[in-house]
Amino acid sequence: MVRAIVGANWGDEGKGKITDMLAKESDIIVRFQGGSNAGHTIINNYGRFALHLLPSGVFYQHTTSVIGNGVALNIPYLVKEIQSLVDQGVPAPKILVSDRAQILMPYHILFDEYEEERLGGKSFGSTKSGIAPFYSDKYAKIGFQVSELFEEETLKEKVYRVCETKNVTLEHLYHKPLLDPEELFQTLLEYRDMVAPYVCDVSKYLYDAIKEGKNILLEGQLGSLKDPDHGIYPMVTSSSTLAAYGAIGAGIPPYEISRITTVVKAYSSAVGAGAFVSEIFGEEADELRKRGGDHGEFGATTGRPRRMGWFDAVASRYGCRIQGATEAALTVLDVLGYLDEIPVCVGYEIDGQVTKDFPTTAKLEKAKPVFVKLPGWKCDIRGIKNYEDLPENCRKYVEFIEKEIETPITMVSNGPGRDEIIYR
Ligand code: GDP
Repeated sequence: MVRAIVGANWGDEGKGKITDMLAKESDIIVRFQGGSNAGHTIINNYGRFALHLLPSGVFYQHTTSVIGNGVALNIPYLVKEIQSLVDQGVPAPKILVSDRAQILMPYHILFDEYEEERLGGKSFGSTKSGIAPFYSDKYAKIGFQVSELFEEETLKEKVYRVCETKNVTLEHLYHKPLLDPEELFQTLLEYRDMVAPYVCDVSKYLYDAIKEGKNILLEGQLGSLKDPDHGIYPMVTSSSTLAAYGAIGAGIPPYEISRITTVVKAYSSAVGAGAFVSEIFGEEADELRKRGGDHGEFGATTGRPRRMGWFDAVASRYGCRIQGATEAALTVLDVLGYLDEIPVCVGYEIDGQVTKDFPTTAKLEKAKPVFVKLPGWKCDIRGIKNYEDLPENCRKYVEFIEKEIETPITMVSNGPGRDEIIYR
């Protein structure tokens, strides 16, 4: 059985926690897109971790963690992340890396930095992890697959060829130091030795696992609204964040993904630029930011303060629909316990008309939120294990959201820990 865990919002919904929790009953956890540009925060028996590249299943000894072909593979980062787990007392995880995954090159990070610098105030708010240059090269067909590291002669020839192109841009557009192809080739040989122990024909491995009836989790990064096709283009990420892409980024048949769990946050947060209709500012935002997540709402990779907002039913319903959600997990509900009233955005007013459908970017920029206010529950709900034991107003909030997103909420998360979950 293959189940996808994906974000319905802008990311940071708590997918890491839900994946870590569900990994207990899983055999294989797969990352299928993105790179080390975003992070999952996980709190378990070993401590508090911010994972960036590894799937959130690495804490169990019975699971295999897979980096699929759709991922932007930063090899030194992968090795560093594995080492940091071991250093913190986690047993060495079993890791497989697709031989078709492409390699995030040192120059991708440089180009990301240079482009942000060139754009100045008009930048996309990149995390400068090299993700956009990486995917650009992949689709321009000048990327490097892991498998190519093992063919020295052709690798060298390609490195020289690619450096020629890159150096033209470096010299004339960015006015920065040029790449040395020989040095780059040597670096790639080092990468080869680092990644060699993990390389695998992942799609064949997963094909066999599916046949054997293994439980597989696909773990998404970011969320629906950061998808390059269906999100808030161009303020999106460079690989698809949708469960459907799990089939491609892992190399499995689409019809095998039978459960799609969207992680939906009980309020909104976003990093980077882009329209954010239910955004709040000032003291109201500071208060929510300070109380949010497990230690405040600050980016797991960058430490940047996240932009805050009330729950956006228009964006979240769309986010669930575009993922093809079969169920939803509502997270960080405990954070809202301090409020007398909780605003929820139920419509967008665009040019004087109210819509409940999520629009394209140009219209989104003009949208003003239509809020309704729900009564708060004014208490701490952490520690509660049964849905019926939640305060009535809290249940009403959950049920209101469930109706709005048109997706059954089967899990309610009331704390960052692995066991802080209420099944419905
Ligand atoms: P991800 O990328 O979707 O995994 O999200 P992040 O890890 O970046 O952000 C989610 C944050 O919320 C992390 O700091 C989690 O520890 C925290 N978190 C997850 N679920 C809950 C919850 O139910 N309650 C609280 N208070 N924090 C949570």
